[in-house]
Amino acid sequence: MATSEEREAVMEDILSSLNVLRRNSWGASAPAKPLDPDWDYEAIVIHNTGHGHIDTMKKIQSFDFSDRGWDDISYHYGITSSGSIMEGRQIIYKGADVKNQNTGKIGVVCIGDFDGGVRGWLSGHGTGGDPITAAMQAAIKRLTVKLRLVFPTMEYFGGHIEYGDTADCPGSHMLPVVASLRKEFGLATPIKRSGL
Ligand SMILES: [Zn+2]
Repeated sequence: MATSEEREAVMEDILSSLNVLRRNSWGASAPAKPLDPDWDYEAIVIHNTGHGHIDTMKKIQSFDFSDRGWDDISYHYGITSSGSIMEGRQIIYKGADVKNQNTGKIGVVCIGDFDGGVRGWLSGHGTGGDPITAAMQAAIKRLTVKLRLVFPTMEYFGGHIEYGDTADCPGSHMLPVVASLRKEFGLATPIKRSGL
């Protein structure tokens, strides 16, 4: 059982070793309420921001506060198309990114719409979705390698829809990328739990 000092040291090590852009770099607001702790993570969950033009960490946090009623940004890390890794909810706290099953899961949101289709067209994103850049994929890899190192309990790697209910997150174009990375990492396919 890691002490709170040990957890904070691991959190800091992840941020500094990967040059993660910290919360203050994107003007994060403080959590609305004290958050629940979590640790000994066993799963990484990949998301996209989707059709809604919510394309910065600050906008995600504002949406999570106002529309979803959460107490902080729901995801632990964000990844941009240029390959920057951003700090979201601090890793010492439980995420809020998979309905009713957040314990043990690290939420990673890739900024973009990786679905496209009719909904993408309706919202002005185009039917092809946004490109999944090599820099973005490299950042997912760097982050996953580090998270496995610091959390030996890590077992699963998958897209949001592989864990639970969502319309399309992280998008039909991102799912094959996730599957290919999972194979490369040698991590397991999530066990889907719907209707929670
Ligand atoms: Zn999602």
